[in-house]
Amino acid sequence: MPINNVEHGMISSRARERMVRKQLVERGIIDPRVLTVMRSVLRHLFVDEALAGRAYSDMSLPIGEGQTISQPFIVARMTESLQLLGDEEVLEIGTGSGYQTSVLAGLCRKVYTIERHQKLAEKARRKLRNLNIHNVIYRTGDGTLGWPEPRLFDRILVTAGAPVVPENLIDQLAVDGFLLIPEGGAESQELVRLIKQKDGSIKREILELCRFVPLVGAKGWAEKE
Ligand code: SAM
Repeated sequence: MPINNVEHGMISSRARERMVRKQLVERGIIDPRVLTVMRSVLRHLFVDEALAGRAYSDMSLPIGEGQTISQPFIVARMTESLQLLGDEEVLEIGTGSGYQTSVLAGLCRKVYTIERHQKLAEKARRKLRNLNIHNVIYRTGDGTLGWPEPRLFDRILVTAGAPVVPENLIDQLAVDGFLLIPEGGAESQELVRLIKQKDGSIKREILELCRFVPLVGAKGWAEKE
């Protein structure tokens, strides 16, 4: 017998609660605001229906165009590492499914997000509009070049792996701002946090090892033939 919406809602809310406890809290995510948002964003709505049953599993999942929605833990870790207080303007490179975008939108004033695949960008925009998330501005294009209009961001989050940190992104980081980016080889990277100091110099921290799909663009990896 097919389950109804109420039953489905209860199952997914239990699955989310379990995801937060087992995958996030037990692995050291402690920011209560991040945990609250991770509990409230419905990850199963960001994957195809056929994959919805695995939406709260400890893994990334395909979203089309050869791309993935990131593992919940890495979304939480990156979000926590941004130390958002609520008033920030955040630039996200790699909208993907829009899941991470929704998490950010719940924790800051405005998200500016860029995705290079038109199809994914359109799908994410529609999804967030249907979820009544309105503090997001979308662009389709090459995020390695930064936001197309001149602007400084309090936080910049790159959700794909770069060979080196694109200079254009460092230029668009405000003083005291954080830029979080997976940097390294095509197969594995280090999650790096750059903090822009008052004198314009950059403090660099390595947070952990990670594995992301490549950041493809003029200041990233070349597109595979
Ligand atoms: N955070 C996303 C989510 O929650 O679904 C997952 C992002 S996925 C791991 C990385 C995304 O970065 C892909 O959608 C990919 O198309 C995008 N991407 C790769 N290079 C890009 C670039 N130069 N500019 C914009 N987006 C890019």
